[in-house]
Amino acid sequence: MDLVNRVAIVTGGAKGIGKAIAFSLAKKGAKVVINYNSSEQSAKAVVDELTLEGYEALAVQANVAEFEQTKALVERTIEHFGRLDIIVNNAGITRDRTFKKLSEDDWHEVINVNLSSVYNTCNAALPHLLESDNARIINISSVIGQAGGFGQTNYSAAKAGMIGFTKSLAIELAKSNITVNTVCPGFIETDMLSEVPENVKEQIKAKIPKRRFGTADEIAKAVLYLCQDGEYITGQQINVNGGLYV
Ligand code: NAD
Repeated sequence: MDLVNRVAIVTGGAKGIGKAIAFSLAKKGAKVVINYNSSEQSAKAVVDELTLEGYEALAVQANVAEFEQTKALVERTIEHFGRLDIIVNNAGITRDRTFKKLSEDDWHEVINVNLSSVYNTCNAALPHLLESDNARIINISSVIGQAGGFGQTNYSAAKAGMIGFTKSLAIELAKSNITVNTVCPGFIETDMLSEVPENVKEQIKAKIPKRRFGTADEIAKAVLYLCQDGEYITGQQINVNGGLYV
């Protein structure tokens, strides 16, 4: 499918995996809304970069853990571009601690940003996606949602929740024009991974059959495939993990 004139919102699109996704969609002709959280300025720099290259993009501040802010993000998109075809739920955080040390705040923050945000965007976007002739919801989950991870009960629960959400919504929307899928990255070289101590990173790498971390562009390729050629793919998880979880 041609993405020319399609409009996409990429949550957390100012850096890392989200930025790579925003660029890859823009390069295929989509108009891209780069969502960023309140403290982040780099979204505007990304939009400038895209605009300089001749693509259409807009930066919109919204904390996607907050329902009203997410609704405003979708409304701003419609106001500016007049339509909405693709939602990439990419915004995510970790607050890794063993369960004994995990506070109630660590729990709720991670669930709200990674999982409740998906409810928020889908709720706000659904009426507009139904007006598109070929729409996509793509949720960026994680191998940790499939296999678990030490010190990651909150993150793992949120990412597994995204997978269940995806399957149910895909079934509900199967007769419509909207497909719903999850992309599950393994360990990807971004700021999120840089929070992991070097010795732990080496241990992780040794367990990856491909013996290297993935790149943000490799995740973007899976998202682009679903956007362009995924008409008959719905309710699925696309694993991009170097063989870590098969
Ligand atoms: P990153 O930290 O580089 O980027 C995350 C982005 O989300 C940032 O732009 C951040 O500002 C944004 N964000 C965070 N909270 C937000 C909020 N409340 N509202 C709006 N935006 C918010 O991380 P990344 O590695 O690029 O991760 C992107 C996605 O991929 C996340 O959902 C993450 O869980 C998932 N993932 C990453 C890896 C990895 O190894 N890097 C592996 C598996 C899954």
